Amino acid sequence: MKITYGNMDIIDERLAVIQPLSKFWYEGKVAGIDVLRLDLLHPVISGNKWYKLRLNLGYALDNGFKKVVTLGGGYSNHLVATACAAKRFGLTSVGIVRGDESLMTPTLQQCRDFGMELKFVSREDYTNRHDTQWVISLTGNSSDTYYVPEGGANERGRAGAGLLTRFVNPTYTHIALAVGTGTTLAGLRGKLATDQQVLGYVPMKKCVEQEQYISSFVAPDKQKPWRLIPDSNFGGFGKWNNKLTDFMNDFHRENSIPLDLIYTGKMMYLLNQALQNNEFSTCDRILCIHSGGLQGNTTVKQLLTY
Ligand SMILES: *Cc1c(COP(=O)(O)O)cnc(C)c1O
Repeated sequence: MKITYGNMDIIDERLAVIQPLSKFWYEGKVAGIDVLRLDLLHPVISGNKWYKLRLNLGYALDNGFKKVVTLGGGYSNHLVATACAAKRFGLTSVGIVRGDESLMTPTLQQCRDFGMELKFVSREDYTNRHDTQWVISLTGNSSDTYYVPEGGANERGRAGAGLLTRFVNPTYTHIALAVGTGTTLAGLRGKLATDQQVLGYVPMKKCVEQEQYISSFVAPDKQKPWRLIPDSNFGGFGKWNNKLTDFMNDFHRENSIPLDLIYTGKMMYLLNQALQNNEFSTCDRILCIHSGGLQGNTTVKQLLTY
C-alpha cells in the first residue's frame, strides 16, 4: 500500500519485500528463515522507525501542530528518521540531544541537513526526557509543538508498529526482531492475534527495562508468547568488534542483505548462535524483521564490504 498524506507520497510499503535466506544458512536446523526487508522502505526513514512515526506525525499534522520535538543520542536512528519524516510531512523539527556539541556525528549532521534544529543538553538534564512539559519548553513556542518521546515510545508508536502484522503470515512459528526500547515488539505482539513466538534480540547486556516496558502492555502468556534475548558477546550497547563486522560481511555475501552494526547485525549473530546450538526445532519457520538502521554503518564503512 502506498501511504499518502494530503497530496504527498510518503512511503511506498510495497518496497518492503520478504526475502528468504540462503538455504545453507539454516539447513538441518529449521525449515526456513525469511527476512522482512523494512530497510528497503527508505534510506533514512527506514525500518521500524517509519512505523513508530507515521501515526505520530499524521496526528500532529491533522491537529494543526507545526513543529515536532523528540530526543536521542548522537547516533540515534530515531532522531534522523524523525528529522527526515517531519520534513516530508511539512513540519519543522527540534532534536534534543544528550551530550554537548563537540559530539557532532554524521547522524546529527544529517539531522541538521533535514532542517532539524538541535539542542544539546547535559546528561543530567537529559534524565528529564520523559517530562513532556520540560521537553516542549526547550523549543520556545510550546502551543504548536508536538512531543514524540525518545524512540517513538508512545501509544501511537506502538499502534503504528502493530500495523506490521500485515506482513506476518500464520505459517511462521517465530518472529525475530531487534529491541531497543521495546516499542516495536510491544506494538506487534499486542496486535498479533496468534500464538506465534516473538523473539526480541536486545543488543545490550541486560534487558530488565525492556522486560518491564513490554510487560506493561503485553504480559507474556501462552496466547501471546514473547521473550527477550540479551547479548553477551560484544560488551554492551553500541559495542562491537571485528567478529561482528566479519559476520556482517559474510551474511551479506551469502544473502545479499546488508545488516546494521547496532541492532540487526547483533540479532542475526545471536540467531545464528541459537541455530548452531540447536535451540529450534527442524519444523520451525522464522520471520526476521530487518528494522533498518543502515545509516549508522557510516562509522565502520571501511570495515564493511557493502
Ligand atoms: C530503533 C531500532 C530498533 C529498536 O526499536 P524499538 O522499537 O525501540 O525496540 C531496532 N532496530 C533498528 C535498526 C533500530 O533503528
